[in-house]
Amino acid sequence: MDHFLYRDGILHAEDVPLPEIARQVGTPFYVYSSATLERHFKLFQEALGWTDHLICFAIKSNSNLAVLKLLGDLGAGMDVVSGGEYRRARAAGVPGDRVVFSGVGKTREEIAYVLEQGIRQFNVESEPELLAISQIAAKLGVSAPIALRVNPDVDAKTHEKIATGKSENKFGIPIARARAVYAQAADLPGIEVIGVDVHIGSQLTDLEPFAQAFAKVRDLTLQLREDGHDIRRLDLGGGLGIPYERSNSAPPLPIEYGKVIEESLGDLGCEIEIEPGRLISGNAGMLVTSVIYLKKGEGRDFLIVDAAMNDLVRPSMYGAYHDIVPVIEAEPGTVAQPYDIVGPVCETGDTFAKARNMVPLAADDLVAFRSAGAYGAVMSSEYNSRPLIPEVLVRGGEFALIRARPSFEEMLARDTIPEWL
Ligand SMILES: *Cc1c(COP(=O)(O)O)cnc(C)c1O
Repeated sequence: MDHFLYRDGILHAEDVPLPEIARQVGTPFYVYSSATLERHFKLFQEALGWTDHLICFAIKSNSNLAVLKLLGDLGAGMDVVSGGEYRRARAAGVPGDRVVFSGVGKTREEIAYVLEQGIRQFNVESEPELLAISQIAAKLGVSAPIALRVNPDVDAKTHEKIATGKSENKFGIPIARARAVYAQAADLPGIEVIGVDVHIGSQLTDLEPFAQAFAKVRDLTLQLREDGHDIRRLDLGGGLGIPYERSNSAPPLPIEYGKVIEESLGDLGCEIEIEPGRLISGNAGMLVTSVIYLKKGEGRDFLIVDAAMNDLVRPSMYGAYHDIVPVIEAEPGTVAQPYDIVGPVCETGDTFAKARNMVPLAADDLVAFRSAGAYGAVMSSEYNSRPLIPEVLVRGGEFALIRARPSFEEMLARDTIPEWL
């Protein structure tokens, strides 16, 4: 459930009519609902209420500082995959002991920086990385808390570009090698083994792959304890999917996911950590855009909108579906017609939807893409020299610009023409 509803025929974010935001900030823009972010975070808290836990928001899904502050103030930890994300977490007021560092290619600079600034745990993805962390921690005279990210070789049954738990993916240490690498880790200076980590993919709409992965984590944990390791924390990653297509999908709820965790791992007495991104931020955001032209084509009409693939890349990158709705509701009984909804970028891939049934629309009408709060603004670029679009946060009847649109002067000022030209 989110807080984007029609009132008197006008789509609102909580108590704010979207046309009001459009008037003030211009289109296109992202808008996030505080109440929805909070609600989703609390659903996970309830789902893990049976145990000691930390919910680490996956910053890569939405890294705006205001969003991070909101979640951090509710008690969230953060899952970061770069030094930049680590700095965002800290700038939003989240202490280092609530920040987990994941990712396959942590550099030595990043490792040293977070060790100096404070980190809850490294999720280690390879043996060379383990050695690097050991060397750097020993040199700094500190101890690095680590979990090994194991690759359980299960099929997450999701889009191939967001599946991470099969043996052919680049992520994690093959589970069959895990015992050997844990043994090595225990002997290394500057390393404190504390847990096991797994993350099998994103946008999972079935709990079965989670259950399979967790069963393997369970076996491994028991084995590692027999080997003498003090495994006291399990990081189970993120990945729970959301209903992008509201009419025909109902992915599992956080409470059901929490039950699977409890049934698989509840008796081990470990602290449970999870790293949800999409389920917290996805349906908490919309992309609002306006129609530039209605172009009559042969056999199809094109709605050319002012948002493009550089603002929301998921449709062209993953063939992803987003519900697209008019901001002003049509009269009941209005007959829908098919449109191809495209952006202005000079790429055929800049297509959001083909033959999408929409009520009749015209130039200047506002339309909103639902479920755009995760992997939306964070994946945007300035391709075609289109400025990054603003982000807005709503709380009740108030809203604030939380990232401004850069001016063309600011964009141009980033380039330098060498004096020898
Ligand atoms: C992407 C990612 C997540 C978040 O995935 P969601 O599908 O957004 O919940 C969590 N952990 C790791 C390691 C990731 O790479």
